[in-house]
Amino acid sequence: MKGDSDKVIVIGGGVIGAFCAYFLRRAGRDVTIVDAGKFGMGCSHANCGFVSPSHVLPLAGPGAIRSALWAMLQPSGPLSIKPRFDPALWGWLFLFARRCNMHDMIEAGHAIQALLQSSRTLYQQIIAEEQFDCEWETRGMLFVLATEKGMHHYAETDKLLAETFQMPARRIDGVALIEFEPALKPGLAGAYLYEGDAHLRPDRLMASLKTLLLKRGVTIREGCKVHGLDKHEHRAHRVVTSEGEFTAQSFIFATGAWTPLLAEHIGCRVPIQPGKGYSITMPRPTLCPKYPLIFEEHRVAVTPWRSGYRLGSTMQFAGYDATLSRKRLAILTEAAKLYLREPVAEPIQEEWFGWRPMTYDSKPILDRSPELENVWIAAGHNMLGLSMAPATGKLMAEMIGSQAPHLDPYPYRGSRF
Ligand SMILES: Cc1cc2nc3c(=O)[nH]c(=O)nc-3n(C[C@H](O)[C@H](O)[C@H](O)COP(=O)(O)OP(=O)(O)OC[C@H]3O[C@@H](n4cnc5c(N)ncnc54)[C@H](O)[C@@H]3O)c2cc1C
Repeated sequence: MKGDSDKVIVIGGGVIGAFCAYFLRRAGRDVTIVDAGKFGMGCSHANCGFVSPSHVLPLAGPGAIRSALWAMLQPSGPLSIKPRFDPALWGWLFLFARRCNMHDMIEAGHAIQALLQSSRTLYQQIIAEEQFDCEWETRGMLFVLATEKGMHHYAETDKLLAETFQMPARRIDGVALIEFEPALKPGLAGAYLYEGDAHLRPDRLMASLKTLLLKRGVTIREGCKVHGLDKHEHRAHRVVTSEGEFTAQSFIFATGAWTPLLAEHIGCRVPIQPGKGYSITMPRPTLCPKYPLIFEEHRVAVTPWRSGYRLGSTMQFAGYDATLSRKRLAILTEAAKLYLREPVAEPIQEEWFGWRPMTYDSKPILDRSPELENVWIAAGHNMLGLSMAPATGKLMAEMIGSQAPHLDPYPYRGSRF
């Protein structure tokens, strides 16, 4: 029987934990995933499914505070902050505001881009090799703008993306846009097409990953909530859970937006806030978009699949409030009506919210605990966890296995906080 010498316990069965387990297993490790709920049913379940190398820019940038205030003042704006006494949230917002400058935006952009590009390549390989049935499509993504003002403003972002990040887009103006994407209403100002972007169906990706991991011998324990670690001399020996205690050689916390609740056990600062977003899943409308779309001025996303259609987005900082707000769901359909000829289809199959793990610098934390030499953290993937997951998993497996990392891990170090 094998001992614990090659055993790794991954805490959290979201897309990040799943890809950590995938690469660790490929490296020959004995892997167990434990999840407080069901595998794949956290934020990784019903997100928009964009795998977007184009999304390099962090939330914090010049002008972000002004746009955030404007968005909050709109009754049906995409951003809301629930007013309450929450020193961690106000501290987070203060540090976010300090990063709203060009220098910090570019620095974070390069760190985000490295994970996005590596992940895009890895998705292409893994989905083909492992024959995942997740409706993977590589036709690109359209950033749609309703107004000339929006087009003019976005032209600056496009220039920055092309010149600083080598991420050019194809500009499509008004009339040509309707021919290009007939599901859109006439009268919109235009769009930018990012041809390198892809999309997939997140619940099917998670189901494919689960089947594969089980087949490769990974143990998945669901309904197994981690309460803490049993530690001795700068090492963790056991993870203490609702279902008993389990020993391993290494432990990875891939607990998404819940990670700050475990920070004292991990032994480091984890400035992650839950950023609540919503989605509505439906059958395909008769006139279904061909392309995944983002309505930039309303911050709403549309994802078409062979098997369905989803509207998603909005950002609410309301702590771990688990209510499903009808008002915020309505923001999605109201925005879609402004852009699409057939914005909704019946019957609604799922109304959902997820907590995005938001760091104030938009970069994840991929590092070893400063206090425990065999405890690692892979969390804080903000709005791009799906897009960054394969490279995260690969990097974590390399660092834990003391191999040369395929990406420089420095930008994701925990000590930056
Ligand atoms: C509306 C919306 C749309 C989005 N669209 C996109 C998109 O198009 N593209 C993209 O790249 N990203 C998107 N995202 C972001 C993406 O969904 C997240 O970044 C990603 O899912 C985070 O993955 P994760 O594995 O870190 O967290 P999760 O998927 O939340 O997984 C964490 C897991 O940890 C478990 N856990 C927590 N605490 C404990 C504990 N104490 N013990 C055991 N287990 C525990 C939870 O049960 C959960 O299963 C979107 C998010 C939202 C909300």
